[in-house]
Amino acid sequence: MENITASEIAGLGVGAFLLCATIAAPKVDAFISSSQRSSLKMCRRCGDVKLIPCKKCKGSGLVKPGGLFGLSNPMGDLVSDRFESNQSSIPCVNCGAKGHFHCPQCYQAFTESQ
Ligand SMILES: [Zn+2]
Ligand SMILES: [Zn+2]
Repeated sequence: MENITASEIAGLGVGAFLLCATIAAPKVDAFISSSQRSSLKMCRRCGDVKLIPCKKCKGSGLVKPGGLFGLSNPMGDLVSDRFESNQSSIPCVNCGAKGHFHCPQCYQAFTESQ
């Protein structure tokens, strides 16, 4: 143990701190924003909108079949020129074509207050 110098220990400490900071940074970000919302008595999940937009269809309720990663592909655009736009899009199964979900946190608070 005598081989480990103070500077080595300090280096290990800094390295561990940086590693922790890198891993924790997004979580700290989320924690800060959620604590800001709760201090404003806003919902942590939806910011008091009561609705959470569907990530799959980006709130439109419709998704284009064949689109990869939410991006419309060039072929899809060619097809939609020839067909009606509602034929080239299908209802989003993720949200039931609504484009949004009820915020579970607000919904729970609402039902508990009944
Ligand atoms: Zn959706
Ligand atoms: Zn909410």
